[in-house]
Amino acid sequence: MLAGLLLPGLFAVLSTAQQGMLVELPTILFLLVIILSHFFKQGRSGFAALLMLVAYNVIQQRLQTPLAIGSTLFEYYFLVLLLPANLVLFMFLPERSLFSFKALSYHVIFICQAVAFYWFIQPEQLPLVSNLLTALEPWILVFGDVSVLPSILFALLICAVLTAATLILFRNVASDQAFLSALLACTLTVVEFEQQWISVSMFMMSAVVLLLSILKRSHEQAFIDELTGIPGRRALNIDLTQLSGKYSIAMLDIDRFKKFNDTYGHDIGDTVLKMVASQLNAVKGRGKVYRYGGEEFIILFKGKSTPDCVGYLEDIRLQIAGYPFQIRQPIERRDLQADNLDAESNIIEEIEKTVQVTISIGVAEGRSSMTSPEEVIKAADQLLYKAKEAGRNQVCA
Ligand code: GH3
Ligand code: MG
Ligand code: MG
Repeated sequence: MLAGLLLPGLFAVLSTAQQGMLVELPTILFLLVIILSHFFKQGRSGFAALLMLVAYNVIQQRLQTPLAIGSTLFEYYFLVLLLPANLVLFMFLPERSLFSFKALSYHVIFICQAVAFYWFIQPEQLPLVSNLLTALEPWILVFGDVSVLPSILFALLICAVLTAATLILFRNVASDQAFLSALLACTLTVVEFEQQWISVSMFMMSAVVLLLSILKRSHEQAFIDELTGIPGRRALNIDLTQLSGKYSIAMLDIDRFKKFNDTYGHDIGDTVLKMVASQLNAVKGRGKVYRYGGEEFIILFKGKSTPDCVGYLEDIRLQIAGYPFQIRQPIERRDLQADNLDAESNIIEEIEKTVQVTISIGVAEGRSSMTSPEEVIKAADQLLYKAKEAGRNQVCA
């Protein structure tokens, strides 16, 4: 966004032909975002791009004349009100692909606004528009003539930016940052509206951020394990093809995890997996942690021999075994007060208890010139089996 503020200075020195192409660039980028959003199933970013695309073209087609002429000022206000309002609205609506039947209601919202906009800008409505503008007069230019915006619209715009920022703090939805950047682009365009090239520059940067956000999210979907938030099997397979020289691979498996699931339920099992993953992430020796599958993890130590890694793995094993994992287990009150059976006697209560989670580890060493990573993983797996046989909660190298 800061780059977007600086770019207009550069645009001014380009040739007329280059500037002509530049004006089309945001449109092309937004269309690209819309197409990618469909294929990557990220409808939210697609709708943000659609809103920005329409707003950008309204600015380019209708707002390049001095704002005082005809209904231009009113169109400008309309845009500054509707664009942020719609962006914020789409942050709250469920994600839907732009081209799906389920998104029909979203398109209806869109079309209604477009029809209202079109109706307002007809020459017959000019008296109505100028009356409205007169009514708005006391609000106009409170912030000086730089923003050319009634203070109430400016305040709403800031509210929209703050809403997006607050949402980012309180929920983990990947596209929120892209929406915030679109809102910032809108705000900075409005604040610098008198500056030439500002809308091209800010909308272009917003399109770039939307594009990056789609790519980043699809990269995460491909390489990051959703439950634990650490790299998954696909990321491991790629990293294994890039190995050179000496390396060690540790295979880790949670002990008696099936029994854990059966006793406390799958949800608590998932929490255990998350806890183990976050503990493993703290491994020393620059080991990279992957979820191999199920309750199995792999740590890859590049440039390290097995004796180098055993200490790091022992640390992590002890850390997990010593972690006070707390479980809230529902119990029936009837069990506690068997002689006092009244209507409330089988209210579910929760007791908290601490359980121990342990892991077993097998670690083997390889050299890219002599062994394939698959062979090393197999060796580590056999050592893991040995660790299990020898009583679990131990490292076998
Ligand atoms: P061992 O000590 O020999 O490793 O015994 P184990 O019970 O851990 O081994 P086993 O391979 O029999 O069980 C693995 C269990 O892991 C089976 C499955 O229910 C559970 N599991 C695999 N993936 C997930 C997951 O994503 N979430 C949860 N909650 N459980 C999972
Ligand atoms: Mg297993
Ligand atoms: Mg296991």
